[in-house]
Amino acid sequence: MTSIRAAVCRSFGAPLAIETLELASPGPGEVRVGLRAVAICHSDVSYADGEWGGDLPAVFGHEAAGEILEVGDGVGFEVGTRVVVTLVRSCGECHRCQCGAEVACSAEFALDGTSPLVDADGTAVGHGMRTAAFAEQVVVHASQIVPIDGDLPADSASLLACGVITGVGAVVNTAGVEPGSTVVILGCGGVGLNVVQGAAIAKAASIVAVDLNPDKLTLASRLGATHSHDLATGPVDELVADLTDGAMADYVFVATGAPAALASAGALVGTMGAVVIVGMPATGVTGSFDPATLAGSNQRILGSKMGTSVIARDIPALMQRYHEGELELDGLISRRFPLDRINEAMDEVRSGTALRNVIVFD
Ligand SMILES: [Zn+2]
Ligand SMILES: [Zn+2]
Repeated sequence: MTSIRAAVCRSFGAPLAIETLELASPGPGEVRVGLRAVAICHSDVSYADGEWGGDLPAVFGHEAAGEILEVGDGVGFEVGTRVVVTLVRSCGECHRCQCGAEVACSAEFALDGTSPLVDADGTAVGHGMRTAAFAEQVVVHASQIVPIDGDLPADSASLLACGVITGVGAVVNTAGVEPGSTVVILGCGGVGLNVVQGAAIAKAASIVAVDLNPDKLTLASRLGATHSHDLATGPVDELVADLTDGAMADYVFVATGAPAALASAGALVGTMGAVVIVGMPATGVTGSFDPATLAGSNQRILGSKMGTSVIARDIPALMQRYHEGELELDGLISRRFPLDRINEAMDEVRSGTALRNVIVFD
């Protein structure tokens, strides 16, 4: 057992409480990582606000980077290795893992049943999103970490754990966007901007960024968007029609949980096109589609969880792109905060004023 400070959610919608918790030692196949940085993802806010239910108390946070402090039996990593920590826990052997879908691994792990965290009263505290990274240290399965190559700073590296692989992976892995495609991105937050980066990597010919926030559209342009559209000026349909001579988009990425974005996607996609759902709406939100158009135009609706990423393959490749100047990470960080000010950092993500706020540890 190790005593750590963590931000605990005790009541949905209430501020997180900074408490001292006890963290179990890593079991077989597990590692204990001392965190240097953890980014706040919109999913953390959704969980803390109760949008997706779940048991409390719990510690959220799942987009982290740090250094291995201790390894359990059978772990091939060495203490001291700098790593990215993700929520993707996989066995590598089940049918889904064998098919490249380790984000949907069907294996059961010891950590799925028993949280490594207890509070001062000895009550179990939930291991939110399989990571519980709003804390000084985490215990996770070794499949959840990827070594950091070179001198990539921890705060930038942390973004690779979720926002970046979710956005780029949706383009490259889930959709398989072809060079020359027309791509529309609805919502240019932490994930949507990485869809823009992914579309640029995939060499899409037209990349149309859509949002209500002019600052996000400016950043989207810097990251590779060829066109940007402020929804406050009206729908984007006409721009997409003009760009494609009426054929409409090859790919429409819905990178926000906003029901209105979901509802507008169908009209933007053309023959043989695909709508890719990347954002996670609140539980209970539904959408509708016209099956005759879907079949008649040979269209697809795809769901993308964590960009269908294979982290041991994709994260090192993205680090390489970062080092070669093809992938922006540093510029995606809005502000840095100490753990004690996490509620302020969460509020900025909740209100949409921040892209990625990162909690940094000394
Ligand atoms: Zn996330
Ligand atoms: Zn598996």
